[in-house]
Order: sequence, then C-alpha cells, then structure tokens
Amino acid sequence: MILKNFKQVEKTIFGRGGFKQLGEVVDEKRSENDGFAVFLIDSYFEDKSLVIPASGDDITLYVDVQQHEPTTHQVDDIRDKILLQGLPSSITGIGGGSALDICKAVSLMVTNEGSSQLYQGLNLIKNPGVWSIGVPTISGTGAEVSMTAVLTGPEKKLGLKCEWTVLNQVILDPDLIADVPTDQWFYTGMDCYIHCIESENGILNNAYSKAFGDQSLKLCREIFAGDQAGQTGENDEKLMVASLMGGLSLTYSEVGVCHALSYGLSYVFEYRHGYANCVAFNHLEDFYPEGVKEFKEMLVRFGITLPQNLSQRWTEEDVTRMAEVSIRLEHMWHHAIGEHWKSEINIETIKDLYHRL
Ligand code: NAD
Ligand code: ZN
Repeated sequence: MILKNFKQVEKTIFGRGGFKQLGEVVDEKRSENDGFAVFLIDSYFEDKSLVIPASGDDITLYVDVQQHEPTTHQVDDIRDKILLQGLPSSITGIGGGSALDICKAVSLMVTNEGSSQLYQGLNLIKNPGVWSIGVPTISGTGAEVSMTAVLTGPEKKLGLKCEWTVLNQVILDPDLIADVPTDQWFYTGMDCYIHCIESENGILNNAYSKAFGDQSLKLCREIFAGDQAGQTGENDEKLMVASLMGGLSLTYSEVGVCHALSYGLSYVFEYRHGYANCVAFNHLEDFYPEGVKEFKEMLVRFGITLPQNLSQRWTEEDVTRMAEVSIRLEHMWHHAIGEHWKSEINIETIKDLYHRL
C-alpha cells in the first residue's frame, strides 16, 4: 500500500494583529523572479480600511467571489493579467475559502501552461508554483491548510490537487474574522464541523485524522454549542484553529455523503459551499445520527433557518444533473459507505437523497 506523502504549510503566523506582518513576509521574497508581489483580495474589502502592503509595481486585484465561487475561467484571466508583467515573487490571497483557493490556483497557473481546466484532478500539475501566502477572513473551510484549490469549470467542480497546491505561508489573524455576518459565520463554521464528522465516519478514519478531527470538534462545540458559544474574540481565535485542524484531519481522510451531495447543489444551483453543506447535512441523520442531531441544536441556537421542501421546486432534470455530479465523487462515497459502495449507491439512490431536501 502506498501511503500519502503530503506537504504542509511551511510558515504560520497566528495571533491578533498578525496581518500587520504581511509586509515583512512579502518583502522577504521580493528578490525572487521579477520582484513584484501580487495581492488578490476578496472584493468585500474593496471599500474597507484594510491596509495592503503593496508598493512599486506590485499588482493588487480585487477578486469577485460574491456572484459565484471560483471558476477556471476566472483563474485563467487573473493569471494572464499577471503574466503581462512577468513572474511575481509572491502571491497573497486575502479572503474566505474562495479567495484562498483563487490564490492557490493562480500561484500554480503562472508556472503551468494552458487553462486551469486541464489540471482539475489529482497530481496533474507539472511545475511548482510561486510562493503563496493565505490570509483567511472567514474560517471553517480548511482551505488555509488543504492540498486542494476547488474550481468550477465547464465540465466539473473539482480541485487542482497536488503537493504544490498547499500554501507556503499563512497568516491567521482572528481580528479579520470578527465582523463576518452571523449566517455566513455559521455556514462556513459548519463546513469545519461537517469535515470532522465526515472525516471520522468512514473507512479512511485513522489515528492521525481522528486526533485532529476530535480536537477540532471540541473547539467547534465550544464555539457553536457551549455556554460561551457565539461570535466572541476568544471564539474567533478558536475557530481559526478549529478550521485548520479540521483541514488537517482531512489530509489523511476524506469527506463523505454531505460533501458529495453539496457539490451537486453548488454545481447546478450555484449554492455556496458552506450553505449547500448545511442544506444537505440537515437531512442526513441516517448517515450521521449524532452529528445531525447536534447540528440541529446549533441551528436553533443561532436562529438559522434552512429552506424546506426545496426539491419540490426542482425539475427531474435538475435532480439528475446533481446526481451525476455527485456520483463522480467516488472517493467520497468510497470513504463514507465502504469498499462496496457501488452495490448500495447508484444514480437512483442519490436522486432519492436529493428528493429529501
Ligand atoms: P467565501 O470565500 O465563498 O466567501 C463568502 C462571502 O463572504 C463572500 O461574499 C465574501 O466576499 C464574503 N466575505 C469574505 N470575508 C468576509 C469578512 N471578513 N466579513 C464579511 N464578509 C466576508 O466563503 P467560504 O465559506 O470561506 O469559502 C467557500 C469556498 O471555499 C468555496 O469556493 C469552496 O469550494 C471552497 N472550499 C475550499 C476548500 C479547500 O480545501 N480548498 C475546502 C472547503 C471549501
Ligand atoms: Zn467543505
């Protein structure tokens, strides 16, 4: 059996005010390549007072992740703009999972020819990218530590996944997530919670992924369920760590049924990842009984209402398209159901799961 040999983030700054050190971190790399730095910033910050340490011929681009999650087309476009000026010394992504994934993908695509569509999958990237720096402004996805940059292309929603996808540096500054609106905070936070539940409930679960998953779950419970739950300064710190550990739990395990369904929802209806997960997870008590029970309590606690009877509005064609996206995520079904998942799961059973929503 060949075991995964995965790379982790090389450098991490954690703590309040850590964002102020971004300038130093970028400066350290300035002597490489053509010397300039790139900042890819979630357009949410366009009219905010975040001070970006750009100078000289650095490129600062605000990336639009409001309308849709990152696409291969969007990444190719940004890459082409950057290459007009040469090869940057570093690329920094500032934002939620979407901006981080754009940063990770662009950092690879400046050194790999052709469209990012060509590289959606495992180990298809040929050359390492340029130094990448991630600064999360929402926590939960684990994108800050994961090996994948999830992109939606004309044919599929799938990550560019290889060891060079991992960010080289992260800056985790809890102040940056302080003002996330409660619903978004909840949906993205639940991405982390669901990662841990799915990671542990499947055949790939092991001591490594369980240790990170358990610790992440413990933090999630303090943030979303305990006496001290809510958006407090202390919980913002915990959520940044929970997200990171949830992501690490997955490097040696897999997500499961909820993510397999969620990808279909995102692909066909452009639901955002965290929200799509919540919509699906709410109906998966037979797969994850304890997790779904606790999730429902957290929904009530924060007054989050999820849509009911969604599937009544969908056409049979919509449901089939989602099921087709979902069934292709074989690694997730394999982990969640087991070696012989194909005898239990087929297009029809997946359609039934969508009809529950
Ligand atoms: P997001 O990045 O999609 O952002 C959601 C919204 O919040 C956007 O409108 C954004 O502009 C806004 N926003 C960003 N920072 C904010 C702040 N501080 N305050 C207020 N609003 C803010 O949300 P997300 O849930 O962090 O990320 C979801 C994305 O992450 C999806 O594209 C998904 O595919 C990806 N993802 C990647 C991985 C991975 O391992 N690479 C894992 C899970 C999810
Ligand atoms: Zn996820």
